[in-house]
Amino acid sequence: MFRKISDLIFQDVKNENETKKVAVTLRVSALILCIYFLSLFAAFCIIGDVKSAIMCIFCCVSYGLSFYTTYLNRTKFASTFSQMLMVLWIMVFIWEFGWDCGVQHFVFVLLVLNFTVSTNAMQYKILAAVLACAYRILLYAYTSRYEPFTILSHGASVMFQIINTVFIFAELTSILIIFTKDSQEMEQKLIKYNEKLERLASLDPLTGLYNRRRMRQYLDQVEAEYSPNGMKFLSLALGDIDFFKKVNDSYGHETGDQVLKSVAKLFMKAIDGKGEVCRWGGEEFLIAFYDMNGDEALVLLTEILEQIRSMEVVHDGKSIHITMTFGLVEYHKASGVEGSIQEADKKLYRGKESGRNQIVY
Ligand code: GH3
Ligand code: MG
Ligand code: MG
Repeated sequence: MFRKISDLIFQDVKNENETKKVAVTLRVSALILCIYFLSLFAAFCIIGDVKSAIMCIFCCVSYGLSFYTTYLNRTKFASTFSQMLMVLWIMVFIWEFGWDCGVQHFVFVLLVLNFTVSTNAMQYKILAAVLACAYRILLYAYTSRYEPFTILSHGASVMFQIINTVFIFAELTSILIIFTKDSQEMEQKLIKYNEKLERLASLDPLTGLYNRRRMRQYLDQVEAEYSPNGMKFLSLALGDIDFFKKVNDSYGHETGDQVLKSVAKLFMKAIDGKGEVCRWGGEEFLIAFYDMNGDEALVLLTEILEQIRSMEVVHDGKSIHITMTFGLVEYHKASGVEGSIQEADKKLYRGKESGRNQIVY
């Protein structure tokens, strides 16, 4: 039952020009007002005011109608209708029962509805707010000059004050909940979207490894940590697949991509938690060995090269084997990250010159 009502209230709007948030606000507001008028109906029955009781039923049905119209792609109509109706019955109640019944505070609900559910431009909303203010002052001026038609007993006055206060708070609270929740959800969505964008901007789409830009950021962070008290070592290895052009030429570009993905997967598994690896360019990879000196990095890199040598990528039933050449350096503050990478590149070149499939350290 509760679920059905909640589904009904939170049902989305079909019209693209209307927003769900406004429709939901109008529905909740109309439902609260229906209950409000039913409560007033009971109160008028208690004090024996049949005319007012009938008027409450009329208002209750009207808000029921307003609720219904939000399902007919008529959110704008529902918004104007419920606000106009509110202006009207506030006036009638004040006229009939005076200032003491407390119904004039519904002008604040009107003010909030005007800003939350109206589709008008901001200048019209501000104008409506000024008019609402003037309306309240006018009502006050009227009641201070004229006696109400019906003078309520003290008990009845208290009863109406309580009913009005409760429902004004219910209206305002529900509208605020909807809007606060919505803005929090939007904020969360935006944070997630930004994180996704940041991730996309940091990763190489083919291999899922860090791209060059993100790796530079990482190295800048690591370099900033480099101090006698913080991280003491950093080693960098620049690796390049040997004769990769041949792989492409013999098996096709897609198989070449497959090889790159397999190499990346192998790196990720081997480096996991011990540093970072990125796709530096085409078939070149840069590995940062975090807090490892050159000798320690050499041990791990030798294992990695062994794994690469024994890795096989199957294509059309044939297994493809590759080798790689690496230039490995230990980072020193004097040469900086940029200088260390250049040094690793020179060593890589030397490795290529002297037969490939090796680590030059
Ligand atoms: P070497 O041992 O000297 O490195 O020889 P190599 O053939 O690997 O070197 P070269 O630089 O001549 O060729 C690199 C090739 O890598 C050329 C390019 O087509 C290929 N390549 C670069 N990026 C990609 C990619 O994203 N996918 C595929 N399939 N191939 C790529
Ligand atoms: Mg190559
Ligand atoms: Mg190359």
